[in-house]
Amino acid sequence: MHYAALASGSKGNCHALSDGERTLLIDAGISLRQIRQRLDALSLGSGEVEALALTHEHSDHIGALGVILRRTHWAILATRETRRAAEKAQDVLIPPERWIELEAGHPLDWAGWRVLPFALPHDAADPVAFRVEAGPCTCAVVTDLGQATALVADHLRDLDLLVLEANHDVDMLREGDYPPQLKARILSRVGHLSNAAMADLLARASAPRLRQVVLAHLSESNNHPDLARFAAEEVLRGSAVELHVAHQREPLALSVSPG
Ligand SMILES: [Zn+2]
Ligand SMILES: [Zn+2]
Repeated sequence: MHYAALASGSKGNCHALSDGERTLLIDAGISLRQIRQRLDALSLGSGEVEALALTHEHSDHIGALGVILRRTHWAILATRETRRAAEKAQDVLIPPERWIELEAGHPLDWAGWRVLPFALPHDAADPVAFRVEAGPCTCAVVTDLGQATALVADHLRDLDLLVLEANHDVDMLREGDYPPQLKARILSRVGHLSNAAMADLLARASAPRLRQVVLAHLSESNNHPDLARFAAEEVLRGSAVELHVAHQREPLALSVSPG
C-alpha cells in the first residue's frame, strides 16, 4: 500500500492511496496538471486513478473538480450534501453515472477496499474524513475539523497510518494578522485543529499497531512545521512511530505496511 500527500495546506489538498493496481484520490484542491505531474514523479501512475473521494466542498479541496469532470473518467465519491454543495460552489454537474454515493458512518466496498467516511465538525455541508482498509493495511485521512470528537477518536483505532490535521499554533494565530472574524472561525468548534488539539487526539489514537503519522493541512501563516512536529513528538516519545509533515508544494510519499 502506498500513500502520498500530493499537496496539503490551505492553498490546496490532495492525498493518494494506491495498492499498485488502483489509486484513490482524496480531495483535489490543486490543478489536474499538478496532480498528474506529482503522481508520475512519485511513480504512483496517474493512469491508474479510478476515483476521487471528496471530504467537503471548500475550494482548497475541490478546486480541480470541474477540470477533472471534463478531462478524466474518474468516479466521484461524495455524500449527497457534499455533491450538491460542490456542484454549486464550482458551478459544475457531477453526472449521476459518475457519482458513487457516500453516507457518513456507512462503509463502501470500493473494488475490494473498505472506504468508511465519518462525520467531522467543520463548517461545510456534510464534511467527512476517511478510514480506508485495503488488504492488510488501514489508513485514515483526517483534516478540516474544529475539534476532536469521540466519534472521530473512535475511528482512529488500529490504524497503520494516520494523516492528521495540525493546522495552527493557537498563540501564533491569536497574535497573527488574520482578521478577527477569520481567527474566530478557525478557532471555533467547526474550524481547524490546533497543534495542541492534534496532540490530544493523537494520544487517543496511539496504539502499538500505529506505524506512521503524517501531520497535514498546516497553516503557512499560523504554524511552523517544527512546532507541529514538537507537539506530536511529545505524545509519540518512546514509540516506534515514524513522524512526517506534509507540505503545500513538496509531495510526500510513504510505503505503508501492516503493523
Ligand atoms: Zn481545508
Ligand atoms: Zn475546509
